[in-house]
Amino acid sequence: MTKYFTVDLFMIASPYLKKQKKNYSAVKDQQLTIAAKANIFICLIFCLLWTIYFAIAQMWLIVSMDIFFTLISLFSLFLLYIRQISAGILLSQVVLLVFPVVFCLFFDVASIDYPRVAHLFLPAGAILGYLNYRREPSFLQFILIVLSITCFIFFSGSSFNISGAIPLPENIRHHGGWIVTCVATLMICISIYTMQLEMQIENKLVQDLRLALTKKQFELFYQPQIDSSETLIGAEALLRWHHPVLGYVPTKDFIPVAEVHELMPKIGEWVLAQACCVLNQWSKKEQTKNLTLSINISADHFMQPHFEQTVIGMVQKHGINPALLILEITENIALNNCASMIEKMHFLSKHGIQLSLDDFGTGYSSLSYLQKMPISQIKIDRSFVEAALDDKRSNKLVTGIIKIGLDLNLRVLVEGIETAEQFYAFKNNACTEFQGYLWGCPMSFNDFIEQVPHFKK
Ligand code: C2E
Ligand code: MG
Ligand code: MG
Repeated sequence: MTKYFTVDLFMIASPYLKKQKKNYSAVKDQQLTIAAKANIFICLIFCLLWTIYFAIAQMWLIVSMDIFFTLISLFSLFLLYIRQISAGILLSQVVLLVFPVVFCLFFDVASIDYPRVAHLFLPAGAILGYLNYRREPSFLQFILIVLSITCFIFFSGSSFNISGAIPLPENIRHHGGWIVTCVATLMICISIYTMQLEMQIENKLVQDLRLALTKKQFELFYQPQIDSSETLIGAEALLRWHHPVLGYVPTKDFIPVAEVHELMPKIGEWVLAQACCVLNQWSKKEQTKNLTLSINISADHFMQPHFEQTVIGMVQKHGINPALLILEITENIALNNCASMIEKMHFLSKHGIQLSLDDFGTGYSSLSYLQKMPISQIKIDRSFVEAALDDKRSNKLVTGIIKIGLDLNLRVLVEGIETAEQFYAFKNNACTEFQGYLWGCPMSFNDFIEQVPHFKK
């Protein structure tokens, strides 16, 4: 039942997605935006009706408060409309937190006949915030969730109010209590339903991901790597998943999911085999026979028993020069399982395979590991590229990293070069190799082959 329903989710969303050129993230954003809009809309109607009611009852303090929160809600709707999703949700959450709290403290004072009800809006805000936090974690979002839950517990468990409170008349509380409870429950239901939809979308993605290998939906794209004279020296192979409905799913959306569900070793094996085939093909052509090919290896793939033997077996099977295959591992992997990892690295290195430390500088770089590991290249993460040109401290840091690499006789590649200015800055800083949109985005095999003759010889 769930399966077919979630298939429909992608299917229903697909025309919208194609039109918007968006994908998996867009489906999730769309669900969240609809839930947030629905909640804010209900809030708005509710505030407006109460404004009219309290205006007739001439309770001007509550009227002005209602108008204030109505305006903020309208602004958060506007933020959602211009696709500032996080900002819109954060603002609506502030309304769903401050409005009930102020109301509980000043007006919604529990009596013997009528319980307090305004705090029932707090869980709706907390759930909406949680959905937003999963999409884009932030400290502010976390604090708002914690505050909403804490206030809900506090107002549920106590009849506390401040001394200058102006309790609402009993006749208003008689009907108002029921209306507030119904509206708040409806908002909680909408938020929970959205959460359920999101989980279904995620489950569907995992199901599809499990089948993607057998359905041949993975592809490798190739991004050129060049040396300081802008001669093509190789490429990095980057995984792409072409989903039949969603199109290309961004790596950030499926690689972490594949890692959590332990699918990366299988996918990695496919990448390795594919890379060996490509190197074999390249070895037959004059203009590609010396190009290196880098592939990314995930931690659990690297730590598979016999990983190193599998790599060597594959290299021998395809009859390729092992020195042209570069395995990229991230420094966080290096910290996980140090002794056995270094053993594997030495084995690979002894058989001529090159090892590269990817995203260098973003993890917990430990220089002692760098000394023990038989790596031949470090790849400076692209987060340093803009920073290095923007401020002096980052520039000094990058210069230091490059110097360490060169002093250890490592090749130093910088990723994410997008402008000539960045290229010259890093070239002048003695970087030896470069990769980035300046020379080409990751592209299909055929496109890459077409591009090869256009690089300097
Ligand atoms: P990475 O290995 O650090 O790859 C570099 C990423 O930066 C790629 O993103 C690439 O498209 C992007 N990039 C390259 N040049 C530029 C540039 O000039 N500007 C900008 N803004 N971006 C640039 P992509 O392909 O989305 O891959 C992201 C990450 O996914 C990779 O980071 C790697 O950690 C992982 N990944 C990709 N393919 C594989 C794979 O086959 N196996 C494993 N385990 N991980 C992979
Ligand atoms: Mg990489
Ligand atoms: Mg990288």
